Amino acid sequence: MTANNKWEETSTIKYSTRSRKGHYPNIIPETNKSSPLELFKKKPKLQLSSNAIMENNKETEGAVKEGNGNDSMLKINENIQDNKDETTIKEEKLSPSPSKRRHIKIEYDNTDPPNRWSEVLGNLREMRKNSDAPVDTMGCDKCHDDSVAPNVIRYQLLLSLMLSSQTRDQVTHAAMQRLRDHGCTVENILATSDQKLGELIYPVGFWKSKVKYIKKSTQILIEEYESDIPDTVEKLCKLPGVGPKMAHICMKTAWGQVTGIGVDTHVHRISNRLGWANTKSPEETRKALESWLPHELWSEVNHLLVGFGQQICQPLRPQCATCLNHEICPYGVKYINGELKGTKFKKGK
Ligand code: SF4
Repeated sequence: MTANNKWEETSTIKYSTRSRKGHYPNIIPETNKSSPLELFKKKPKLQLSSNAIMENNKETEGAVKEGNGNDSMLKINENIQDNKDETTIKEEKLSPSPSKRRHIKIEYDNTDPPNRWSEVLGNLREMRKNSDAPVDTMGCDKCHDDSVAPNVIRYQLLLSLMLSSQTRDQVTHAAMQRLRDHGCTVENILATSDQKLGELIYPVGFWKSKVKYIKKSTQILIEEYESDIPDTVEKLCKLPGVGPKMAHICMKTAWGQVTGIGVDTHVHRISNRLGWANTKSPEETRKALESWLPHELWSEVNHLLVGFGQQICQPLRPQCATCLNHEICPYGVKYINGELKGTKFKKGK
C-alpha cells in the first residue's frame, strides 16, 4: 500500500495483509473521500470475519470499536505497511443511528497457519508410521494393474476413484479386482452391459449411479481423449461422476502432479477437529487447507489424514485418550473433558 491510499465509501474494499499475529489487519482504503484517520474520527465499527484475527487483535479491536483515540489508528496503520497478501474488506452501512457508525466486515483471502500445526503433523506421522491403515494397502492407488499400458493404468486409477466415493477401501479394492479379472480397459468396459457392470462393482456405494457414470465417462474418454484420461482438473471434473476431490487425487496418482488437496470425509472431519479449518464442506476445507499448508505437504496430508481417520480419529468414537495430539487438538481436549454432547468418553478408559 502506498501513501496515496484513500478511503472509499463503496461496499467492498481491497486490502493487503500477511501476518496478523499481534497486529490489526491492513486497514488502508484504496480510493477516497476521507482518510482512515478521518474515518476513525467518525467512530466506525469494525467487525472481523476471522475468529483468529479477533483473538489476536482484541486489544486493538477494542480500541477501534470504542473509537477512543487517534493513537490506536496510527498504530494500526503502522502495522499495515508490512503486509502483502490480498484481503477483501466488505463495508456495509449500518442502519441509521445517532453515532452514524459504519459496519465494516473483513474477509481474508489468506489464512495464517494454525498454532503448532507442524507439531501436530509430526505426531500424525508418528501415529501413522506403520502404514497399516486400509488406505495404505487398499487405497485407490493400490487397485490398478501395474503390468498394463500407462493409459490403461490411468483409466484404472480413475475408475477406482469413482468407485471409492461413499465406499470403504476394502469394498473398492475388491470391486476393482473383479473389474480387472473381467478386463478393465475402456473398450471392454464400454462393451459390457450395464447389468454385468453392476454385478461387477456391487456393493460399492451408489453402484447403480456409478454404472451410468462409468459408461458415460468411458465413452467420452474414447471419443475425446484417445482412450486416455484428461490431464487437467478442469477436464476431469467435466466427466460424469467426477468431482474436485477425485480430480485432484487423480492428477497426483495418474499424472504425478499435485494440483490440490484431496479432501474426503476423513480429511474434512479431522481438519475441523484439529482447528486446521472451520468449514462446512470438504470443498471449503480444501480451500482453507491450501491457504496455509505448504504445497509440498498437500499430497502427504490426504494420505496421512485418511488413514488416521480410519484407525484413530473415527467419526463417532475418536481415540483421543491415546492420540498424541490430545493436548493440542481443541476437539480432543473437549472430548476428554466431557464437554461435548453425545460423546461417551470416560476418563481412565
Ligand atoms: S485428539 Fe481426538 S479429535 Fe483430536 S486428532 Fe486426536 S483423535 Fe482426533
